[in-house]
Amino acid sequence: MPGFEIFGNEERKEVNDVLESGILMRYGFDHMRNGHWKAKELEKAITETFQVGHAQLTSSGTTALSTAMAVMGVGAGDEVIMPTFTFVASFEAIIAAGATPVLVDIDDTLCLDPKAVERAITPKTKMVMPVHMCGAMAQMDELQALCKAHNILLLEDACQAIGGTFNGQKLGTIGDGGTFSFDFVKTITCGEGGVFLTNNEEYFKNADHYTDHGHDHVGSDRGAETHPFLGYNYRISELHAAVGLGQIRKLDHILATQRKNNAVIKAALSQVEGVTFRRIADPAGDNASFLSFFLPTEELTRSAHKALLDNGLGGNFYWYDNNWHYIKKWEHLKNATSLFPLNPGLVEAIGKMDFENFQQSDAIMGRTISSLINLTWTDEQAQERAEKMAATIKSVLS
Ligand SMILES: *Cc1c(COP(=O)(O)O)cnc(C)c1O
Repeated sequence: MPGFEIFGNEERKEVNDVLESGILMRYGFDHMRNGHWKAKELEKAITETFQVGHAQLTSSGTTALSTAMAVMGVGAGDEVIMPTFTFVASFEAIIAAGATPVLVDIDDTLCLDPKAVERAITPKTKMVMPVHMCGAMAQMDELQALCKAHNILLLEDACQAIGGTFNGQKLGTIGDGGTFSFDFVKTITCGEGGVFLTNNEEYFKNADHYTDHGHDHVGSDRGAETHPFLGYNYRISELHAAVGLGQIRKLDHILATQRKNNAVIKAALSQVEGVTFRRIADPAGDNASFLSFFLPTEELTRSAHKALLDNGLGGNFYWYDNNWHYIKKWEHLKNATSLFPLNPGLVEAIGKMDFENFQQSDAIMGRTISSLINLTWTDEQAQERAEKMAATIKSVLS
């Protein structure tokens, strides 16, 4: 998954362009920047690569989500349906908007269970936010149908699934909006960065303003711009965008490498009785950054995970115990612990949620191991790792 594995002269050249001009800011300074507009160029590369109308770069995936909430009009009193298995940024962005996160179960796709989503819809539901976890997709056809039937917005958190597709459509471009993260460990990295994608002209125009303190960006004189509405500084810097420009051109290579290495590990684990695999709604669209698999019981899964790490097989994750990714350890969310007073309606709504009642998610996550796929393995290394993983798991299961 991590694009940082293959940094090279491409990223260096783009960054040097910026350093030589000395203009690290994405806006203004037109006559001093030697014609370099790395953020604009990266946005163009993203719209072309992902066949989407508009792309607004941001300082992170989290601020891309916050931007999405703002431009899609999600705020105080609104409910946003999101999964129990994601990254903390999902609920952070919802809470920052003043809205209420409504957590619902995942299914064996490791993404939102559409039936659980349907049960969670209330008159206050403004948005459904599927998260395409570990490189593969939520069941977008069913979620789209639900959102359409109930007139609810659909925002894809595709931060972990860049390059993935569902029935031929690029993840992140199927809903009303989508986001990618370019943080340091993502498939494409800028160091830090993110992007909001949309085909909606109005959302895009407002995202452009919102991420730069509400400046309207009309005319070339930054001092003379007006502020149609409140905004924040969620800008990406030219330096970060430059890294991303070098990286995005490697996406096809990254996807091909991940798919090749993922298939090698999967072939070996398929031989182990008791190992089953995450259901992927459209297998051809998996970006293959992880191989996620299930073992028969939580106990065996814990033992196998420990044995893998003991055998030097790092990069195998047991998310069930992970406090970044699974609801079980999100105490700060469950207790609505905040440095400053939160909107009382939100605190009350969180207080009423039954955080212990996610048996379906627990039953799946307790038996899941996700294995990170690296880009720099040689064919021999991938094969050796695959065999060692299979032997380790086999010894635990037998
Ligand atoms: C990484 C990530 C984010 C947030 O991205 P940052 O760039 O780290 O802020 C959001 N959602 C998911 C699912 C992620 O994995």
